Amino acid sequence: MRDDEIIKNFNLKRVTVPTSYGPVHRCYYGEIYNVPVLIIYGRFNGEKSPSNEINHQQTIEVVKNCGISKLIGTFVVGGIKPENEQGTVYIIDDFIGMGNYKIDWDYNSPFRNAEMIQPMCSNLQKRLKEATMNVDFPVVNNAIYICFNGYPRIETRAELNFYESIGGDCVGQTLDPEATISRLNGICYAALAVQIDSPQARTKYANDIKKDPKANAYSMSISDCRKRTSLIILNFLKNFSNDKCNVCAKLKRVNNNFKEFPKEFYE
Ligand SMILES: [Zn+2]
Repeated sequence: MRDDEIIKNFNLKRVTVPTSYGPVHRCYYGEIYNVPVLIIYGRFNGEKSPSNEINHQQTIEVVKNCGISKLIGTFVVGGIKPENEQGTVYIIDDFIGMGNYKIDWDYNSPFRNAEMIQPMCSNLQKRLKEATMNVDFPVVNNAIYICFNGYPRIETRAELNFYESIGGDCVGQTLDPEATISRLNGICYAALAVQIDSPQARTKYANDIKKDPKANAYSMSISDCRKRTSLIILNFLKNFSNDKCNVCAKLKRVNNNFKEFPKEFYE
């Protein structure tokens, strides 16, 4: 998450975490309401790139190398449904991956596919829901995130119509493979998203600038949107409960039995 206020107010200290992809400098460590936390500031390590080139594996390695077992991803997303306005917050229950991203695979480790029938940690998801009880903005529980990867653009109208027809609530470019890599590493993972635009606002803007080149794009700023997910994270930490989870680590699955063909076939 990117939250300068939280980093300053809770006096978090910048630390560098080594990974096999090189050091990550954008980490802030400290305590919030007596809970030890690490904030990883954004998903880019230095250079900005299209979403399919973001090194999510490096970020998750930071989490793993620090011995952290619970991770919450925060996202700024696009709206899909006309009834949901800018600023709506989503607690993600599931996602639909539209593919087109790349993960480096360690060919020396046994191959396995993570079990993603329930991609989010149900304990974390429950606690996030509790943390939204008294907020004064709209929250959609059990949301479905459409993960559209890899293009230096946002969605077309036809894509939004399609995403709505397949049950999507919001659309973004980074939840997957972050969730998948978390699961492959047995980390409890949950996701919180805030909607920055809406199909109506985007259409209105495209029409407005035909008449007035100075027309405003969208009414809600990205920092106002992020304040909402930050408030929920702070509520979550205020009432933090270190729930034991036996599920997520199991679902990473291991496969130590892979063999190309039986041994006698070599003879
Ligand atoms: Zn879990």
